[in-house]
Amino acid sequence: MLRCITCGTTYDIDQIRYTCDCGGLLEVQRDKPNVDRATFDARRASRKTIDQSGVWRFREAVLDVDNVITHPEGNTRLYERNGIYFKHEGENPTGSFKDRGMTVAVTQAVRLGATAIACASTGNTSASLAAYAAQAGLKAIVFVPSGKISTGKLAQTLAYGATCLQVRGDFDAAMRLVREACDRLGIYLVNSINPFRIEGQKTIVWELLQDLEWNAPDWIVVPAGNLGNTSAFGKALVEAHEYGWIDRVPRLASIQARGANPFFRSFTESFATRHRVEAETIASAIRIGDPVSHDKAVNAIRFTNGVVAEVTDEELMSAKREIDRMGIGCEPASATTLAGVKKLGLTGRIVCVLTGHVLKDTDAVMKNVSPDQMIEINPTIEDVARAVERSAAAPR
Ligand SMILES: *Cc1c(COP(=O)(O)O)cnc(C)c1O
Ligand SMILES: [Zn+2]
Repeated sequence: MLRCITCGTTYDIDQIRYTCDCGGLLEVQRDKPNVDRATFDARRASRKTIDQSGVWRFREAVLDVDNVITHPEGNTRLYERNGIYFKHEGENPTGSFKDRGMTVAVTQAVRLGATAIACASTGNTSASLAAYAAQAGLKAIVFVPSGKISTGKLAQTLAYGATCLQVRGDFDAAMRLVREACDRLGIYLVNSINPFRIEGQKTIVWELLQDLEWNAPDWIVVPAGNLGNTSAFGKALVEAHEYGWIDRVPRLASIQARGANPFFRSFTESFATRHRVEAETIASAIRIGDPVSHDKAVNAIRFTNGVVAEVTDEELMSAKREIDRMGIGCEPASATTLAGVKKLGLTGRIVCVLTGHVLKDTDAVMKNVSPDQMIEINPTIEDVARAVERSAAAPR
């Protein structure tokens, strides 16, 4: 069933609604699933698509249905570099973790008989929605802040066939608009306010725990924008602990960009007030001033004895350069994780969740290329020799 996290009212799981009558956020509630870690581990070796998906492998604790719209997603790599783990969610089918939530939300949309789905997006949700809608044969309508999402994400969304409404306003305006549009026009909303998105995104945590042979790390570090992931990670840890899959709960560190830091501001006041800001940061995926999942994310930080930090654009871009230079690569928002680890001085076993692929935002890379690295030459051996020499002398 669906349960309001504010007042506890419950609703049927197949009712189309995203918030309680009291305005509170809804979450999926279920009885303890009858599966254990050994089942999940066995499914990793299975050849069935539903088992191969890093989301549906955990289906009894996600959405227990047989017919799923899956690419399949998940099974992303866990890299270890300089003593820190990086779970690379940019290795999902459309290049971001959004696929983990989208496969579940779109599966539920089909179950409910929806014919059209919509979201507001800074680019990655829209790309994911478009891909899954194409697979399911649903009409896709995305609301993006006009001129404020990367060309790659926009192109990807258009390529998969979605109708793209470029809203003259910021993400928060697009978010308000899509909620009203879905209510009025009978379109199914698949933003992370949709509780089924959260159910899918829990599997980022479960899969990384599985990657670590169920030995919980000390810290899980995640970028924080609309706070869907922070909320999902909290719920994943509550359930993993309750179901006996882990005996120790890792602490969450949610990292915001300084120019888009409402959750950080609330955290510094022990969440006494909910803040809203006008957001500006180079990390467009987290350029969000009024995060929808605020209340769930507060619970996640409290349950895990977690922390919230902010990093500047310079700090996150320098961390991005470091991640890129390790040969891993990520988009700017994802690099808030490593920047946050440094800022907070975290120690112990740390998993940074890299949320998006390096090619998602090529502008952010091209703007910072040194003339010693990209050198135009005439087709002569002399020019090659000069360029190689110059490149060897340049700082890396
Ligand atoms: C959506 C997104 C985020 C923000 O996640 P929230 O769940 O909205 O907090 C961070 N990084 C990337 C790459 C994203 O696409
Ligand atoms: Zn309520």
